[in-house]
This record gives sequence, structure tokens and C-alpha cells, in this order.
Amino acid sequence: MNRQKSFQNEEAPALYLVPTPIGNRFEVSERTLAVLNGVDVIACEDTRNSGQLLKSLGISKPLISHHEFNAASSVPGIIQLLDQGKKVAIISDAGYPLISDPGAMLVQEVIKEDYPVISISGPNAALDALVASGLSTQHYLYYGFLDSKPSKRKKELQSLKAFPWTLIFYEAPHRIQETLEDILEELGDRKICLARELTKLHEEYLRGTVSEILAVCEGLKGEMVLVVEGNTEKSTVTLEEVTQKAMQLASEGLKPKQAAAAACEGSDFSKNEVYAEMMKRK
Ligand code: SAM
Repeated sequence: MNRQKSFQNEEAPALYLVPTPIGNRFEVSERTLAVLNGVDVIACEDTRNSGQLLKSLGISKPLISHHEFNAASSVPGIIQLLDQGKKVAIISDAGYPLISDPGAMLVQEVIKEDYPVISISGPNAALDALVASGLSTQHYLYYGFLDSKPSKRKKELQSLKAFPWTLIFYEAPHRIQETLEDILEELGDRKICLARELTKLHEEYLRGTVSEILAVCEGLKGEMVLVVEGNTEKSTVTLEEVTQKAMQLASEGLKPKQAAAAACEGSDFSKNEVYAEMMKRK
């Protein structure tokens, strides 16, 4: 398990994830300016683009290029900077890094190396927690609060079980233990990140499996976000079974393509594969 107390040692090397304005540069916060001014190096998608923004904000720092196509070489370079005790910020051309922008591999590697990954706020707890969670940011579902009644909460979790994308929940501290117990029971011992008190003095990220976080969550206080890995299990349904289901739906009146699309849901087969199989049997 990786337990990160973000502000325990502010001198220590760390990776800061810094959103930049999606349009109006006056939306930059004082903290964003302080962090960008406080790091040793800024990694950016496009050094020319970011250079202009940083210049307009009065920030002058060494820039390094980090984007989708050089990640394999730039990530080890950034880890080396952290090894040398440096602080690094990552920004994208606009908005949050990692949200349809570079940074995912970097965050995972930095967490593996046990350096803090600290999200600087845009004013939304879900996104702050997601980008620093170490879990996939490619597709995600923001769910918000689960129901406070255990029976309804379990039903909600059952309905999310097959969902392959990262799930984001908000939770109150007095319910965190029972919610984690329900997640363990309904979704299994998945990877999760519990992010609490984001951007505040006691900010903490707990990254591990549900059971690992459950073992230490008693007494945790403050505002919390739970980021939960999506379903990674491979479907065990065969092409034959999916095709049979599609043929059945077609015999009940659905058009063949619609039947193929409905039948393939949740399986590893595409509607085209199922449709082609149906056509062979006509
Ligand atoms: N509108 C807010 C947003 O964009 O994040 C969320 C409001 S919701 C009523 C309050 C919940 O958001 C809290 O119970 C907690 O789950 C989450 N939350 C708000 N601030 C947070 C913080 N600093 N750290 C972690 N979670 C936070």
C-alpha cells in the first residue's frame, strides 16, 4: 500500500499535477502560481505553448517536454529529477493533465517509486482525486454519493460491477468503513485510492486494494473521495453463446444488427463479429 501525506515535508521532491486555464488565463489561482514558481522544472506537452502562458504569468522555469509520444523516454528523466531531490510540475496545454492529455504513465511510475503525486485544485474534488489516484483516467464514471441505506447502496454497487471504467464516489467519513466493506463484497478486492482533505493541511492519498485501505480506515476524518478501478475481469461468455442470444432476440423481432449489438454487451465480442456469425447461420 502507498500512503502519502502530501504536506508532511514540503521540501521533499514531489510531482505536482497542475491544471491550467482552459481559456481565460485570469482563472489561474494563487496556489497554482505559487506551485509553478516553487518547482524546479515544469514538464509540459508543448514547451512553446506553455512557455507563452508561463511568460504571461511571469513564471520563468526550465521546461521539459513530456507528451504522449516521448513518455517512454521522458518519464525516466523525470524520475531522475525526483531522485536528485527536485520538485517537478506537469501541465498540459490547457485544463487538467491526464484528462485526455499526457501524464498517466508518469503518475503511475512516480507512485511506484514512492514519490508524492499532488493534485493542485481546479475546484472539483473528483477530478483532483482521479488524476492523482494512479488508476486509469482514460474513461471514468463520476457517480457521486452512493445511497446511505446499505441495501440500496449494495444494489447500486451491483449495477456498477460490470462497468470497465474507473469509478469515482464521494463519501462521508462516518460511512467510509461500511461503504468499503460493501465495495469489497460487491465489486471484489479492487485497486482503489482514498483521497481525503484534498488541498487542505491534512491532505492524504491512500492507494492500495480495498482490503488494505479497510485495514487502516478506522478513525479517518474529513472530506473523502474514493476512486475505484473498473472491472478488469475478462468475460467468460463464448461467441457461440452471444450468437445464440442474438438469434433469439432477432427471432423476437429485433433487426439483426440491433440484436447483435444488444447481445454483445458485456462480452468480449463486437457487434460486427456477432452479426457476421449470425449471417453465416442464416
Ligand atoms: N461541488 C463539489 C466538487 O466539485 O467537488 C462537491 C460537493 S459535495 C456536496 C461534497 C463532497 O465532495 C464531500 O462529502 C467529499 O466527498 C467531496 N469533497 C469536497 N471537498 C473535498 C476535499 N477537499 N477533499 C476530498 N473530498 C472532498
